[in-house]
Amino acid sequence: MTVSTGSHQSSSNEFDPARLRQKYRQERDKRLRPEANTQYLDVSGNYARFASDPYLESSPGGRPREARIAEVDTLILGGGWSGLQMAVRLEEAGVRDFLIVDQAGDFGGVWYWNRYPGVRCDIESYIYMPLLEETGTMPTEKYVGGPELLEHARSIGRGYDLYSRALLGTTITDITWSEERSRWAVSTERGDLLHARFVMAGTGPLSRPKLPGIKGIESFRGKAFHSSRWDYRVTGGDWSGGLDKLADKRVALIGTGASSVQILPHLAASAQQVYLFQRTPAVVNTRGNRPTAPDWYRNLEAGWQRKRKDHFVELMSGLPVAEDLIDDEATRMARKVAAVARSGPGGGPDFAAMQAIDFGKMEEIRQRVTDIVQNPATAKSLQPWYDYFCKRPLFSDDYYPAFNNDNVKLVDTDGRGADHVTERGIVFDGVEYEVDLIIYSTGFDSNAYTYKAGGYELTGRGGVSLAEHWQHGMRSLHGMMTSRFPNLFLIGGVEQAAISTNFAHVVSGQAAHVAALTAGFLRAGVTVAEAEQRWADELARVHIDRTRYDAECTPSYFNNEGKLDGPRPTVLGGQYGRGPIGYLAVLQEWAATGMDRDISITTA
Ligand code: NDP
Repeated sequence: MTVSTGSHQSSSNEFDPARLRQKYRQERDKRLRPEANTQYLDVSGNYARFASDPYLESSPGGRPREARIAEVDTLILGGGWSGLQMAVRLEEAGVRDFLIVDQAGDFGGVWYWNRYPGVRCDIESYIYMPLLEETGTMPTEKYVGGPELLEHARSIGRGYDLYSRALLGTTITDITWSEERSRWAVSTERGDLLHARFVMAGTGPLSRPKLPGIKGIESFRGKAFHSSRWDYRVTGGDWSGGLDKLADKRVALIGTGASSVQILPHLAASAQQVYLFQRTPAVVNTRGNRPTAPDWYRNLEAGWQRKRKDHFVELMSGLPVAEDLIDDEATRMARKVAAVARSGPGGGPDFAAMQAIDFGKMEEIRQRVTDIVQNPATAKSLQPWYDYFCKRPLFSDDYYPAFNNDNVKLVDTDGRGADHVTERGIVFDGVEYEVDLIIYSTGFDSNAYTYKAGGYELTGRGGVSLAEHWQHGMRSLHGMMTSRFPNLFLIGGVEQAAISTNFAHVVSGQAAHVAALTAGFLRAGVTVAEAEQRWADELARVHIDRTRYDAECTPSYFNNEGKLDGPRPTVLGGQYGRGPIGYLAVLQEWAATGMDRDISITTA
């Protein structure tokens, strides 16, 4: 059988679904590894230098300070989008006695760390940047660059007087509940000892860099860093490029995810020679960026940002909308799938029609590659063979053209990855690629529980660690509270909550919810009673079941690297099935009607 999509102009708009599925499975099977997540190396021990902070010295957190011995109402862990919104909402709720602790030298979270050349937001800034209305900020573009995002975080810090209540450049070593004091006792590497009634952990799923499981990384004699620790002292230049110190250097870039796709064009423009080591080709759509029209922006009605965030979720979940205000490649694709999603038997999903749209879209991407990349062998290697939403769709107008530069060579490892690193470079298939610099653009430990990103252990009642408490799988109320861990809220964690590709969405609702709770409970100890089981039952009843879709997918952090059995504390595991809008409505309803039943309050 052949299917014609008729939706694009490619020369190959007819395809055989059975043959394509077979090809996708072959490509997936090459990449499935029994070691799944354990293939990656943690940035500790021999590899700890890959996590060190190149920006600390020039940041507020880099200044020397005395150790703090303090007691506060609330301790916020993390100064990224979660922590900042948490602080602002607490302030608004009248809870002013808080401290924010972050190992980064400044506010900004992922935008503090990811300063590589070309870093830019893939989600529309109008829905991604928090507190735009509250701070009167107009993003300059539909998809703004990293420096603007970092500056937004800093300006929230200044505007809400958060710097005076922050311990930056400070790594937490231990958090333990003290029954005696009814407080959390928190110690840090800088000798601080903090006692807090409430702890809010907003450490995010994309915080802890990971390295590829390639032997010999430590033996390399040249320079090497992770993309989220870009060292401009080595490369020269800045976010906008001009990496002048690379003019006579050979560089290896490992990985082809969101970061690498943005980095490659800048290396291509500056380095003497670039080798891109590819394991799985990316899906790279057109970007469609444009400047913000000031008249349009200023005339948006009050409350527009919340509505627009909801609108994005509606689009991505295939709910009917009058108009697609976001109008990017991902929302257009989601709308196309939604148009047939309910045309199956009994008004249910029409999987064959949905699959045909997916195949058609991927044919379009493959055609885009061959239209742009001149070397036929390179173009063939860059064609992705998996379903569109198996990995995060990427957006760039410069990535594919970079392969037409003479100094860029794609090393296609055909799913295997590089073989090993030597003193001089990287070996694949018996060829040693000698380089001066290796950049590991290999992502983050997103399949660990998000609280793990901080590198500390959380110890609750009876000396039980959170890892022990969840050894048989996560148990929580709304993904935020858990029994035996009183007065602890996990914010922005995506597990057992709800997720959108706009990570910032759920965080904003959680922050407002927790701030309201905290204001009410300030003089008490709060712990979850039996509500965890109720939430587990609700998650079992209403969850996103991507198993069928994920099983066909090429491995990535989206599908737990292909390991689908056992508990999945992963970005797309254990999600509440009604999405961010439904999830935030549950929180609201619970605060109004279920709270008294589900939590026990002890006067402290
Ligand atoms: P990803 O996890 O998306 O990509 C990691 C890359 O490293 C993959 O291409 C992976 O290959 C490759 N890799 C892993 N091991 C090896 C190996 N042994 N040999 C060769 N290659 C290897 O990381 P990113 O940092 O690119 O992005 C992570 C997430 O961060 C994104 O999904 C996105 O959510 C967010 N992000 C958002 C941005 C934005 O909004 N602009 C920008 C950057 C990141 P394989 O595919 O085979 O596993």
